[in-house]
Amino acid sequence: MYRILLFKFTSIDNIVLKEVITYLRSKNFEAHSITEITHLNASMFNWKKLQYDAKKIMDYIYEKYSGLPYDSIIGIGCIDAYTENEEYILSYSKGKISLIFTYRYRDNDGGADLSKFIERVKKEVLHGVGHTLGLKDCTTPNCVMREVKNLKDIDNKGLNFCPNCMYLLNIHYKS
Ligand SMILES: [Zn+2]
Ligand SMILES: [Zn+2]
Repeated sequence: MYRILLFKFTSIDNIVLKEVITYLRSKNFEAHSITEITHLNASMFNWKKLQYDAKKIMDYIYEKYSGLPYDSIIGIGCIDAYTENEEYILSYSKGKISLIFTYRYRDNDGGADLSKFIERVKKEVLHGVGHTLGLKDCTTPNCVMREVKNLKDIDNKGLNFCPNCMYLLNIHYKS
């Protein structure tokens, strides 16, 4: 069974974290979480863009957590982040770490209710887990491993791995 560690780098509604953990357990992952917030520091913030530099956050988190005995380490935080190539990103993965940036997971008009927001977070957490376990972005329409550029893309895909991604995961499945 794969072991997943969840942590937050901003305060996150407890309901959200609980729902994500329950969801991962329902998918047969062993999920644990760190209660305390892992604080980011000002050097990761770009004052011109008023956004965080995802790579700088990743470097910091990677150094701090990649040695922990988990197969997958997922950070969730309500911040707006960018990379060299993307004006903004919804998540960012490297090795066994994946970061979920939820700042843009609510509709622009503030319309998304909590359950919609949670569903989006769940999908991108599972997508991140897939990457940390070696899966690539998938083109199967309903697959949770589909690459997303915006909220519509998230809403249009399903909450599960497609059979092929499931098969690839099981090749490495640990008993
Ligand atoms: Zn991806
Ligand atoms: Zn797939």
